[in-house]
Amino acid sequence: AKVEEKLFQNRYLVDAGRPHIKVKAHTKPSASLLAMTTLCPAGCYTQTESGQVEVAADGCLECGTCRIVTRKTGEIEWNYPRGGFGVLYKFG
Ligand code: SF4
Repeated sequence: AKVEEKLFQNRYLVDAGRPHIKVKAHTKPSASLLAMTTLCPAGCYTQTESGQVEVAADGCLECGTCRIVTRKTGEIEWNYPRGGFGVLYKFG
């Protein structure tokens, strides 16, 4: 099966009001942060019309890519979701 079909079988529990990833306030994203709009496998990162990068952590696969890519720029805060929340993997 394609990976999208497998991903569809994972469940995601949103911890309302407590997103586990936040983008810090900025006027212009670094190239690393901007790259997340194409790198995130779950499509969580988007760029606004005014150029800032936003994250919607719902559906995040906790792959850690954004944490690694922005580790030098410090533009995001990344924590694992609280126990019981976040992605519930059926495969892997
Ligand atoms: Fe996307 Fe992975 Fe970062 Fe989650 S941890 S927002 S899936 S890049």
